[in-house]
Amino acid sequence: MKTLGILGGMSAASTQIYYRELCRLTAEHLGGLHSPELLIRSVDFADIETLQMEGNWGRAGERLNAEAKALERGGAELLILATNTMHKVAAQMMDGVGIPLLHIADATASRIAAAGLRSPGLMATAFTMEQSFYTDRLAAAGLDVILPDDADRAETHRIIYDELCRHIVGEASRQAYVGIAERLVARGADCLILGCTEVGMLLDQGNVSVPVFDTTLVHCEAAMALAW
Ligand code: GLU
Repeated sequence: MKTLGILGGMSAASTQIYYRELCRLTAEHLGGLHSPELLIRSVDFADIETLQMEGNWGRAGERLNAEAKALERGGAELLILATNTMHKVAAQMMDGVGIPLLHIADATASRIAAAGLRSPGLMATAFTMEQSFYTDRLAAAGLDVILPDDADRAETHRIIYDELCRHIVGEASRQAYVGIAERLVARGADCLILGCTEVGMLLDQGNVSVPVFDTTLVHCEAAMALAW
C-alpha cells in the first residue's frame, strides 16, 4: 500500500471526514485489521482564510508548497489536497515536488463522465464557482457546469465559512442548500457536484433528486484506488 499525504485543515471539519472515509474504505476493501498508510498535515485554517480574503494567493501557494514538500520528505508517495478552493494554487503547490497530486476536480469529472452525465450543478465557495481555475477543468473534461444565481452563490459561500468550517450543522441551512440544489436541477442540472469538501455535511443522495458527486468522497475513493 502506498503512503498517502493529505494536506488538510481547510477546514478541519472536512479533514476529519477524509480520515474517517479513508479508514472505512480501506477496511471495507482489504478487510481484517487493515487501515490506510497516511500522513495528515493539518494547517491552521484561520491563516489560510486570511490569505484568501486578502487575495494573497501567491503567499498561500508558497505556504502549501512548503507543506507539500514536508509531506514528501515525511514519506508520502501520493498527495491529496483536501479542499477544492485551494486547488487554485495547485501548480504552485506542486513546484519542485516529486510525488504526484490527485487533483480533486479531475477525479470528480472522470466519475461524472463515467456515469454518462454532462451538466453538473456546482455548489462550492465563491472562489471555486466564480473563478475559472476549477470550472475550466470541468469544461475541459467535456462537462457543461451550471452555477447557482448570484443570491444562491452568496448563500452557499456564507454557509460554508460561517457554519460548516466551524463545525456548525443547522437544519435551516440544510433546507437552504436543498432549495439551491433543486433550483439547479430545475435549470437543467443532471447531477450535482458538492464542490466544497464540507457541503456533504448538509447534502447527500438522500435529499437531492439527481445523482450527487461529493468531492470529498470521490477524492477518497480515487486516492485509495491508487494507493492499494
Ligand atoms: N473546504 C472548502 C473547499 O473544498 C472550503 C474551504 C477552503 O477555502 O479551503 O473548497
